[in-house]
Amino acid sequence: MLEVKNAKMMYGDLVAVDHLSFTIKPGDIFGLLGTNGAGKTTTFRMIMGLLDPTEGEVLYNGQRVGYHNVNEIGYMIEERSLLTKITVKELMLYFGQLKDMNPAVILERLDYWLDRFRIPEYKNKKIKELSKGNQQKIQFISAIINSPKLLVLDEPFSGLDPINTELFVEVIRDFQKQGAMVVFSSHQLDHVESFCEEVVVLEKGKAVIEGRLADVKRAFKKHNIFITGDADPDQLRQIEGVLDVRENANGLKVKIADEFVSKAVFDYIKTCENITKYDVEKASLSEIFIAKVGHSHEEV
Ligand code: ATP
Repeated sequence: MLEVKNAKMMYGDLVAVDHLSFTIKPGDIFGLLGTNGAGKTTTFRMIMGLLDPTEGEVLYNGQRVGYHNVNEIGYMIEERSLLTKITVKELMLYFGQLKDMNPAVILERLDYWLDRFRIPEYKNKKIKELSKGNQQKIQFISAIINSPKLLVLDEPFSGLDPINTELFVEVIRDFQKQGAMVVFSSHQLDHVESFCEEVVVLEKGKAVIEGRLADVKRAFKKHNIFITGDADPDQLRQIEGVLDVRENANGLKVKIADEFVSKAVFDYIKTCENITKYDVEKASLSEIFIAKVGHSHEEV
């Protein structure tokens, strides 16, 4: 288990992380999201024991992370600073041995991951000869080569195309299935909400959104149903929990009190003759962020 307990980090007068708390359990994929400069990398550095919190503490299985944990942890830093003059194989042997791994095991796993990431031909190529996306794959492989129980990924998806993003997501899910704890950061809220269940969204070091994504969305209480067809607005208005029904050129927009009302609306819709669209809308994480902090994520 990873516990961030009331952690605060100050650089001089600047509060980079402000009393942040969250817990990650085996099998959790945890998203640490937020704008540029929100405090994500600082939080990771506290998790990795590279920075001492000014207040509070960070515990991995009840203890501070130290060198004795290196073979259980994988960390992908945000900077893409690989040693560019050596080959992929040499780099992996270097990082793997720093994690106390046997060279034969490192090479066996490297072959597996290069195949999985569809770049087996790069094993003996120098890092500088690889494209940016492929260097990112190598950096990711160097974080997972030791099959970590805690995987800390700082902006793993930035700059990846959709196909490679999906490859990374599949691997992260496999680690989840094996019971690893995964924590990653991103400033692209929409992009990650499809696969992480627990989130903290930071804004200027403070958690402005936190908890299970499903609960966050439920609590936000923005629920609309869009209906096109022969539904009767007056009948819909009589359903308990229907707050408002508006008609426009595309059909009806039905505002409901919570997601449970959608079942009653659906039961009515089933009695209609000709419905061509029934779509329950929930707020996206970006919309919730804008509502909470009063500006768009992309503007920052
Ligand atoms: P990004 O998405 O841009 O990588 P981030 O969420 O990872 O941002 P941090 O790098 O943790 O944010 O930075 C949080 C705040 O702390 C920022 O205001 C940043 O300028 C400041 N900061 C980070 N590192 C230092 C440092 N070593 N010395 C002083 N200030 C720092």
